[in-house]
Amino acid sequence: AVSLQNINKSFGSLQVLRNFTLDVREGEFVSLLGPSGCGKTTVLRIIAGFEQPEEGTVLINGKDVSKIPPEKRNIGLVFQNYALFPNMNVWRNIAFPMIIARKPRSEIERKIKQLLSMVKLEEKGHRYIWQLSGGERQRVALARALAREPKVLLLDEPLSALDAKIREELRLEIRRIQRELGITTIYVSHDQEEVLAISDRVVVMQNGVIQQVGSPSEIYFMPKTRFVANFVGNIN
Ligand code: ATP
Repeated sequence: AVSLQNINKSFGSLQVLRNFTLDVREGEFVSLLGPSGCGKTTVLRIIAGFEQPEEGTVLINGKDVSKIPPEKRNIGLVFQNYALFPNMNVWRNIAFPMIIARKPRSEIERKIKQLLSMVKLEEKGHRYIWQLSGGERQRVALARALAREPKVLLLDEPLSALDAKIREELRLEIRRIQRELGITTIYVSHDQEEVLAISDRVVVMQNGVIQQVGSPSEIYFMPKTRFVANFVGNIN
């Protein structure tokens, strides 16, 4: 579970998050939805430990992580700018976090086999990243994120560079894997349709402030503000 309590974050004179409070339950799939620049990525970066908030607390499974560096938080990340190594093959890309963690070879091999099957790339372990399609690359990124069996998975627009058909296919895959593992997941997107289709709950943000938190149907059929109604496209 992830709990954010009264987070304030500014860059210079720009306040990006104001009193941001959110509880994500164990095993839940929660999405942050909002226009470009509303602070979605910043929320993930704070959870991951890449940014420190000026105020507020981040709890992961009940534990205050403010003093814990990113690499010790055991969070799986698929970020747009968290690139794969193009000149390594799929196998090595997925192995990398485990090699750094000095896992034994036999364990790495067992784990990679399991992960490749989970993301349906059993046949492609020896391909180089540059030989893969965009969708396949994101499958590898997901497998790599899961390699160290994280307690929390953070996904930042993992599908935004893909075409519509692959996006739809992959979002179902992501959800299937997330359910299978029961891993607490926070998903960032500015795509309303995608977020309403994939999430247990949706957080609609505007300028660093939460406008509404609810199930996809609550957000869609009972928007609390004009902004939410406009943004999810259900204006009566
Ligand atoms: P997008 O969908 O475009 O990624 P976002 O909702 O994820 O947007 P953030 O990336 O969280 O938004 O950025 C929120 C605001 O903070 C933006 O105005 C951005 O320019 C600013 N910002 C983010 N990181 C920094 C930084 N390191 N230094 C200065 N400003 C920053």
